[in-house]
Amino acid sequence: MKLKLKNCIILATDENGNFIVYKHEVLCVDNDKISFIGPDSEAPVCDIEKDMKGAVLMPGLVNAHCHGPMTLLRGVGSGLALQEWLETAIFPVEDKLKPIDIEVGEKLAVMEMLASGTTYVSEMYDFPYNSGKILSETGMRANISRVGLSFSEETEIPKGRFDECVELVKNWKDPYDRVRAEFCLHSEYLTNEGFVRRIAEVNKDLKTTVNIHVSETLREHEECKVRHNGLTPIQYLEKCGILDNRTYAAHCVWVEEEDRRIMAAKGASAIHNPSSNCKLASGFAPVKDLMDAKVNVGIGTDGTASNNNLNMFEEMHLAALLIKCVGKDATLGSAEEILKMATVNGAKAMGRDDTGELRVGKKADIIAVSMDKPHMFPAFDIPNILVYSAQASDVIMTMVDGKILYENGEYTTIDAEKVKAEVRESIERIYN
Ligand SMILES: [Zn+2]
Repeated sequence: MKLKLKNCIILATDENGNFIVYKHEVLCVDNDKISFIGPDSEAPVCDIEKDMKGAVLMPGLVNAHCHGPMTLLRGVGSGLALQEWLETAIFPVEDKLKPIDIEVGEKLAVMEMLASGTTYVSEMYDFPYNSGKILSETGMRANISRVGLSFSEETEIPKGRFDECVELVKNWKDPYDRVRAEFCLHSEYLTNEGFVRRIAEVNKDLKTTVNIHVSETLREHEECKVRHNGLTPIQYLEKCGILDNRTYAAHCVWVEEEDRRIMAAKGASAIHNPSSNCKLASGFAPVKDLMDAKVNVGIGTDGTASNNNLNMFEEMHLAALLIKCVGKDATLGSAEEILKMATVNGAKAMGRDDTGELRVGKKADIIAVSMDKPHMFPAFDIPNILVYSAQASDVIMTMVDGKILYENGEYTTIDAEKVKAEVRESIERIYN
């Protein structure tokens, strides 16, 4: 199907990756790809034309670190420090989650993400086949994984976990190639060296992306050095061979200069989670230093227990403020740089070069942001207004692979009222 989006402002990208803002032009979609950006007089004939009424078309947002089903734990344990939060508030509830809860929590996450302009998500949670099924059915783009955990060096605990991680990567199939399987190591502190090395070894052939939490807290970072002869988590992962394939590391709050050098040399990405790091008082990721070292930086929300939402507009806003405030320099973190972090950089981190930009030939993963509300006037500078003024509720259309999944409050692949009823049922059982 060929679709023409007319009367819009388009935040497109040139061949060098720089943004170009087109005003009063059209964007055409041919099936799953962007086929034309330019004046209507030169546009191809399309089956359907839509008047976007002056809205901004921009690339769909890429949430490069998320635990979607944790929507069922939204805000649980607020006010606790990370370790206590995990052990006393989160793990006891997670023990009660069944596969059906994962599906319900993922549906709620997808609803929230589509309504706030996220088209591509990195999903790290239990029961990946259940999450993957929902992400696939609802039309999202996603990476999924079986979380790599290994509590014992001698006896494999949890039993069979290594095989499960490999099985998912080998056997997950999505006919549309929207949802891909990858490897995930929870973290250095929840995996032993034998397990980490086995994942690196098997990935020499499978060559998929690797998702991991790195240096989120100072305690975790320093304890790693004690466990591994002074090596930081990044240095340890390099030694184990993990960074030989495309790796993206959530948080990176405490990464050191040598870590940043290694990440850049190995092509590993850092995923900035500003809300979660602030809420759990983990610290501020050295985003400027990472960028100076030429490390690719994406943005993620983390789970809703530590955020408490999946709103990437809020993450962009906070990332833009923090980099300036922490560096005591208002010129740091331009709106263009922040927008790239939340779109193309995240996609690149997660192993996809075919999305995250509005350019002919790229996937039609597009959102429309209304310019109609008072806080969007006057719009002198489009990237700046998107980062500093726009709200998630300004998103009026979300499209993935050329299919509209959300438009003006309505979902095309989700029965919202049914999902809310299912959420109530799950909550009743889990918390009573
Ligand atoms: Zn996380």
